Amino acid sequence: MNIITHALLGWVPGQRLATHRRDALLLTGAAMAPDLDGLGVLASVADPARGLAWFSQYHHVLAHNLWAGLAISSTVGLLARDGWRTALWAFLFFHLHLLGDLAGARGPDGESWPIWYLWPVEGGPALTWSGQWEINAWPNLLLTVGLLFLFFRQARDFGWSPLWYLSARADAAFVATLRRRFPLSA
Ligand SMILES: [Zn+2]
Repeated sequence: MNIITHALLGWVPGQRLATHRRDALLLTGAAMAPDLDGLGVLASVADPARGLAWFSQYHHVLAHNLWAGLAISSTVGLLARDGWRTALWAFLFFHLHLLGDLAGARGPDGESWPIWYLWPVEGGPALTWSGQWEINAWPNLLLTVGLLFLFFRQARDFGWSPLWYLSARADAAFVATLRRRFPLSA
């Protein structure tokens, strides 16, 4: 799935579950973090051949495995206000990312990007799902639209959005606009 969908899959439940605002941000990070291994694509700007080779070799490998999941959730636990609780949710959100990729991350060339769950352990499983749809197929689009709807509704109902991390004032203006346009039901 693309990074926006992964981010929303972290934020929408994360904002509900987190007891502190910082922890909601960390949970969103955990939902996106596996795709850090796709950053090789950026290297292709400097060196196309090597960047692309790096991308296809390590994307869905380096950070899409159990050990990366444990590392990400422990880091989240250390940084969170509500450490244990947030770490456990982060571990779940990490796996939700893998599940999302298994379901809908097939490349336009038909590449299914198997998940080497125990990598670098030799002989570990390479997870794939035969029903996997393409990364830009309608189920992903539908999911993203649904999550965006929830994103705006939560911003209106809870009175804050991720904009708050950048500027509380801008966020207040954003929420006020939402509430004017879509008033809170009494
Ligand atoms: Zn991924």
